[in-house]
Amino acid sequence: MSRPQPSTVREPVDGTCPRCGATALARYDLVGEEGWVTVVKCGECLHSLERTPANRLGPITLLVDLV
Ligand SMILES: [Zn+2]
Repeated sequence: MSRPQPSTVREPVDGTCPRCGATALARYDLVGEEGWVTVVKCGECLHSLERTPANRLGPITLLVDLV
């Protein structure tokens, strides 16, 4: 709880990663080439399951997850 958030709040998502089988899926906003997008990513292998345009007026984030 005392740890600073490096990104927007991650919303846990039910499901299994089709790539590595992990269940550590999460949905969050980040800035991509096309602007703000909402992504659902595996927390283990960073496989993107979904990528949809988001409200570009969303909360400011640090881009630590765009490697
Ligand atoms: Zn995975």
